[in-house]
Amino acid sequence: MTDKRMLTGDRPTGKLHLGHYVGSLANRVKLQDTYNCYFIIADLHMLTTKPSRGDIENISSNAREMVLDYLACGIDPAKSVIYLQSAVHEVYEMNLFFEMLVTVPRLQRVPSLKEMAKSANLNEMPLGLLGYPVLQAADILMPRAHLVPVGKDNEAHVELTREIARRFNSMYGEVFPIPEVLVGEVPTLVGTDGNAKMSKSLGNAIYLSDDAKTVEKKVKGMYTDPNRIRADIPGTVEGNPVFIYHDVFNPDKAEVDDLKDRYRNGKVGDVEVKDKLTKAINSFLDPIRERREGYASKSGYVDEVIFSGTRKMQEEARQTLLEMKKAMGLTGAWNKISRKAEKFRKKQQ
Ligand code: ATP
Ligand code: MG
Repeated sequence: MTDKRMLTGDRPTGKLHLGHYVGSLANRVKLQDTYNCYFIIADLHMLTTKPSRGDIENISSNAREMVLDYLACGIDPAKSVIYLQSAVHEVYEMNLFFEMLVTVPRLQRVPSLKEMAKSANLNEMPLGLLGYPVLQAADILMPRAHLVPVGKDNEAHVELTREIARRFNSMYGEVFPIPEVLVGEVPTLVGTDGNAKMSKSLGNAIYLSDDAKTVEKKVKGMYTDPNRIRADIPGTVEGNPVFIYHDVFNPDKAEVDDLKDRYRNGKVGDVEVKDKLTKAINSFLDPIRERREGYASKSGYVDEVIFSGTRKMQEEARQTLLEMKKAMGLTGAWNKISRKAEKFRKKQQ
């Protein structure tokens, strides 16, 4: 087994959708035999935009659903450390050290943060949200990951992790590898409504756990070429969500080519295009649903996976933080003070 590591994960804000799959999950499954895997349930990151008691109460059930999605897609729990971020306290400390190595203007230039603030209806930027990529650097560098498979919106965050790792290493000594980012085959999957990103919060997602009927309904309602009001009007294939999905999820390339051809020439109705897409997505999801049900029926199993993963991560984190503090010389200050205090106490006796 290699000692190369990968880390990635998701915020426990709900079930995972097709966007998560093509952006990141597919790469995780593909690479799980090549890398030691660390998957973070990023509940502290959730707090940056969802800090309410209600959101916090939902963490455990959302985490369970998310991990069920991982396992259903083929993540092998025996090969991965799947852990709950908030239970690994070292990450809070590491985050603070990293905050010293990055400037506010640098963080203000990260494009996704303004987007996140906007979609959470925040008119001013919370300090914690501005620090989102710093905390993410702590997540990635905690297990000293070499690879980070994420969607396109996360690419700029990993770039910042690389800068922080370089900065730390040059100031204190080589502690961290400089992690590579790996963006999925579809960097950002469009939503069913034609919005650039499929997203839980936009209500335009097809979930990995949706049943066949729900998929059918969502595909029927999908946004297509708005100029095509009748089946005999030539339509546009490029950038059309229905065909983007066909390209990604329909393995029958000849069928897809034929549909595109007829669509361009006004020789096929939306109904046929969508029916075939529904079939393709449902056949893609069928084995995922089946595995999901198998795992879900074993009550407590997923919790045990998260529990033992978190225990492993806690041990790993303890070691990394200690090494970090040693490199920084921070352990030295406390040791010197402790030794002198001990001498003083002895003299007093
Ligand atoms: P949502 O926007 O649906 O609420 P999210 O952005 O909160 O999802 P995160 O936990 O931030 O989800 O992201 C998990 C991973 O999934 C990240 O690597 C992200 O880039 C990826 N991802 C999320 N949505 C998409 C998408 N539509 N296409 C490709 N990758 C995506
Ligand atoms: Mg995101």
